[in-house]
Amino acid sequence: MTSTRRIYELSLLDEEIADKEAALAEIERRLEDEDALNRARELTQAHESGLSDLQRQQREADALISDIRSRLGPLEKKAYSGAVTNPRELEALEYETKMLKGRLDKAEDSSLLLMESVEKTEQTVGEDRRGLATLEEQREEEVHKLSNDKDKLESEVSKISARRQETASSLDVAVMRLYESLRSSRGGVAVATIERGMCQGCRISLPSGAIQKARAGRDVVQCASCGKILFTT
Ligand SMILES: [Zn+2]
Repeated sequence: MTSTRRIYELSLLDEEIADKEAALAEIERRLEDEDALNRARELTQAHESGLSDLQRQQREADALISDIRSRLGPLEKKAYSGAVTNPRELEALEYETKMLKGRLDKAEDSSLLLMESVEKTEQTVGEDRRGLATLEEQREEEVHKLSNDKDKLESEVSKISARRQETASSLDVAVMRLYESLRSSRGGVAVATIERGMCQGCRISLPSGAIQKARAGRDVVQCASCGKILFTT
């Protein structure tokens, strides 16, 4: 194999490694990205804490209702028993009963409203939990698949890297130095093919001497315009 062809092969291997490494980086990014899941968890937690707050308020309203009822019962009994005959005492008794009844109405209204809110929020929390469970299941599958893809890509990269190492070590040190320096200064691509007499790195027409020299493949020929190593079959 001519030295120019080996450089070309090397550039193809480097391109393949770069593609696979980009795919690996994307997999890493997706493995770390738990944003959707975290948002769903936070929302569920917020609704759950809202629900327990409403449930606490409802328990308090119910406790208030039984407290008022326990005070109202004996008063009504007393009022209807006929035991109280003093008009002023009777009036005070009726007044107190009326006050307590008013408070009972209010407490019952608020308990009813709270009950409705609790039911609605329970539904929301139920939907949240089901949605979260689905997301968690999907995420588990995704992580499993991504990890498999990652393992596969890593083993491919290591195989290609071994071939790259072999090809690189077969090349002249000065040529490798030129190749690496072009690669770092030309956006990762050091070799350009020749098609229809043009350098495919910069699209400039090449002198026929350069094309012939590149085709012979014995010496490294660089494009006079973009500096890339020229290769043609
Ligand atoms: Zn060029």
